[in-house]
Amino acid sequence: MSNQITIQPTKFVNVRSGDSSLGVRVYDNYGQSYTNTWESIPDDDLEILKLVLELEDKVVCAMMDFLQEDQKTIDIGGEYYSWDEIKYLFLDDEEMINDDMLKCDHCEKWIDVEDAISQGTHHSSEKWCPECVKGKQND
Ligand SMILES: [Zn+2]
Repeated sequence: MSNQITIQPTKFVNVRSGDSSLGVRVYDNYGQSYTNTWESIPDDDLEILKLVLELEDKVVCAMMDFLQEDQKTIDIGGEYYSWDEIKYLFLDDEEMINDDMLKCDHCEKWIDVEDAISQGTHHSSEKWCPECVKGKQND
């Protein structure tokens, strides 16, 4: 059975005092950890993942290493993200370029080189992602 890593945005409630705090639970088939010191939980799942990657928790770090090594899909609050969707958070710019990815010149999202669409402009030729090109056509 494959090991699924899950990040669960969580409101922790003390059942005696009623005090609550915010953070995430991070778990897989073998271990679990949590942090409950966040002021708020981002709406954007990938922003949540970014914060999780900054945690200095040993259990969480080991899970994130495993995720990167095995290029796994991650579950963030019930939504599944493939390695391709999240890898830019794990790799530095140079590694992404080696992996044939480039940044959309418009929205700065990482895209596959093959998905990039050339946008001829007056000064230079920009590479845009398909979504930005579509947005432009709808203007
Ligand atoms: Zn774009």
